[in-house]
Amino acid sequence: MRIILLGAPGAGKGTQAKLICEKYNITHLSTGDIFRMNIKNKTTLGVQAKEYIDKGQLVPDALTIQVVEDRLIKEDCKNGFLLDGFPRTVFQAEELNKFLQSTNNTLDVVLLIDVPNEFILERNVGRRICSSCGRSYHIKFNPPEKLGICDFCGDKLIQRNDDNEETVKERLTVYKNHTHPLIDYYWTNHCLSTVDGRDDILTVSKNIFSALDT
Ligand SMILES: [Zn+2]
Repeated sequence: MRIILLGAPGAGKGTQAKLICEKYNITHLSTGDIFRMNIKNKTTLGVQAKEYIDKGQLVPDALTIQVVEDRLIKEDCKNGFLLDGFPRTVFQAEELNKFLQSTNNTLDVVLLIDVPNEFILERNVGRRICSSCGRSYHIKFNPPEKLGICDFCGDKLIQRNDDNEETVKERLTVYKNHTHPLIDYYWTNHCLSTVDGRDDILTVSKNIFSALDT
């Protein structure tokens, strides 16, 4: 099974990716992890990528594509893979397509975890984390017994910097501008399968599995 997982930041991709890979015994490929591995092992690609990352710049498409292709030819991808965080642009998608064709492979499904922006905003902005034990709460969906206080250890609950409204909105705008065109691309070129990501984790994964099994 060869899968691409798409969805806005905050749609719950990471959790679902893990569940899918366990069930279908395929390799979870997150671009972030692949880059970290290359950098850690000081591969040629890793050294090149690090120069951009250290300067706070985006790694160019050509290099990203090379890093991913280099990973896809490894033994543990023979049984299939799930790509998470790649492709990010239509150009990357086209290059991936060419690469798969050159190795006589095709994608089985492009899976979109669809969550409306307002929902992601509410879910992220309402999140509170305990400053000592790290437990996670939500002011509306999972509130602590006492406002601002952790039920478990009694310490103060805080909002993470990247959960503030402006930051979440900024992430969603970047996603919309760069990655959203991919949905149209895959809609017209491949079988795009959409799952409603507003449900709880188990319901979403159940719906994903039935989409993958048809
Ligand atoms: Zn706590």
